[in-house]
Amino acid sequence: MVDHRREPMVGRGSWSLGEWPLLLVRVLCDKCGRAGQYRTDKLLEQHGAGTTMPDLRHIIAQCPRRNNHSDPCMIVFVDRLER
Ligand SMILES: [Zn+2]
Repeated sequence: MVDHRREPMVGRGSWSLGEWPLLLVRVLCDKCGRAGQYRTDKLLEQHGAGTTMPDLRHIIAQCPRRNNHSDPCMIVFVDRLER
């Protein structure tokens, strides 16, 4: 398996999972109370390095509000890394 972490993709607005520099991915939703933490290496195995973090948080959360545009899910990453 290619280690994409050594080849950061630049010029994209958001992190991809392969670029995530922390050992854990932690998420929290104020609105529905969902919270969790996941090992980055396990997520890489399951979802692949090209998964973008904005997509991943919803994949993780499985929040019923995900597609509710009038009352959307507020899931965020606890570690809000500046890009
Ligand atoms: Zn939510």
